[in-house]
Amino acid sequence: ATPMSIMVGVGRGAREGVLIKDAQVLETMERVDTVVVDKTGTLTEGKPRVTEVLSAGDTSEDQLLALAAAVEQSSEHPLARSIVDAANDRELDLPKSSDFSSTTGGGVESTVDGARIRVGKPGFMTDSGVDLSPDATQQSHNLQSEGRTVVYVARDQQLLGMVAISDPIKESTPQVIERIHDLGLKLVMLTGDAEATAKAVAEKLNIDEYHAGVSPEEKHDFVEQLRNQGRVVAMAGDGINDAPALAAADVGVAMGTGSDVAIESAGVTLVGGDLRGVVKATALSRATMSNIR
Ligand code: ADP
Ligand code: MG
Repeated sequence: ATPMSIMVGVGRGAREGVLIKDAQVLETMERVDTVVVDKTGTLTEGKPRVTEVLSAGDTSEDQLLALAAAVEQSSEHPLARSIVDAANDRELDLPKSSDFSSTTGGGVESTVDGARIRVGKPGFMTDSGVDLSPDATQQSHNLQSEGRTVVYVARDQQLLGMVAISDPIKESTPQVIERIHDLGLKLVMLTGDAEATAKAVAEKLNIDEYHAGVSPEEKHDFVEQLRNQGRVVAMAGDGINDAPALAAADVGVAMGTGSDVAIESAGVTLVGGDLRGVVKATALSRATMSNIR
């Protein structure tokens, strides 16, 4: 390859908000036949907002939200921020919490008033011995089928309730997905979120392959499997939880709005988190490489 044309391509990308870390990436991008995308913060805005607070017992909505926020104030996760913001909007006093611990892709916990408060997904709850009532499961399923992310809140082994969170789809996403299909690329969505939530989002966006409840290691393994099948994979993600998969892909594409860890693991960074950059990068690499030949 002529370094000059590649340099020109890299420069053009930069002007269009596609930051390419090294020239090799532009060559590889041309051969990409599969695009794997994370949901939260990649297809969606990653600016979630609490829409419902549901108590499962005699804890009031405000108490439930204050407890959840007391734990989440130590977390960097976008869902955590939405819960703290909601508590602040309601001007709630947060109880003192200590001994914070976080399970990536699962949830968070702290001690409040001598009890362990846990906030996270169903698996995270049941792993800690929390009983989820069929009622709560049904309620959460209804919210998930509208595309909401539902987070459970428990005190020790007792379920206190749940918080429903909405993360709107980015305005540019439907068009990007159409273009990815037009380019003849296979598209797969991976998410740590629940099956019903993933299904609602995938249906809305015409994504026919998706995998839900996927841990960061599983995202990594999935990308590796595709590559072992001979596929050339671009993986787009924004979070710490996406970093292993970004590193495993032929081309890792990080949202510029995402975590530093994701950006460090990726060969391409999209300024402003604009997923249209995936299409631009593909077009740019095809143009650059055909120029060279
Ligand atoms: P995604 O792959 O969609 O970016 P993550 O892997 O970060 O999602 O998280 C997967 C799931 O784990 C979330 O949908 C949520 O239920 C739970 N979770 C992760 N971190 C937290 C947190 N700080 N507070 C509450 N729930 C969390
Ligand atoms: Mg994400």
